[in-house]
Amino acid sequence: MRFRNQPAVLTADNWIRTSVLVLNVTFEALTEIPADRAVVLVSVGAAESVADRDPVFPIRSHYTEMALPQTIRLLRYVYIEHYVLVYDGSRATFAGVLRRDRYRCGYCDASFAGTVDHILPRSRGGPDTWGNLIACCAECNCYKSDRTPEEAGMRLLWEPKAPRHEEKTQQRIWKEMRALRAS
Ligand SMILES: [Zn+2]
Repeated sequence: MRFRNQPAVLTADNWIRTSVLVLNVTFEALTEIPADRAVVLVSVGAAESVADRDPVFPIRSHYTEMALPQTIRLLRYVYIEHYVLVYDGSRATFAGVLRRDRYRCGYCDASFAGTVDHILPRSRGGPDTWGNLIACCAECNCYKSDRTPEEAGMRLLWEPKAPRHEEKTQQRIWKEMRALRAS
């Protein structure tokens, strides 16, 4: 789970686009947040850095001076109800995949996909994961059969990924953090 366009080399302009892993006070991974938000959490004393970026990247502003963290840990427990960290390699349900793809066929864009295709066929060990499943119309599924898209000469219209719950979780964390700071 990485933000897109992670810069390879950090500069004063692009470090904000990096992501920082947030751990609960119990060290469970909660989510990834933009680096500037992580810096704010550390500078207001709501979180501590448990691992800085390597090589060290110093952040200097009017408010704070610190090394850019890679991972931070919240200093108060944040309760995230029903929150499960999902990765592209996490197991997915067929209903979940159809919902994620809004019932559109990932091969021909038909709006009545009612089946789910294993991109790497199940017969060859293709897993039931968010990254290997895509909504598919019956016609494309039948045509593709036990072949990879390359073998069948079919092109995926989008790259299937785990649904992103980060935004929601992040909002929840901010709400909780605001409440903690107010108390
Ligand atoms: Zn189709």
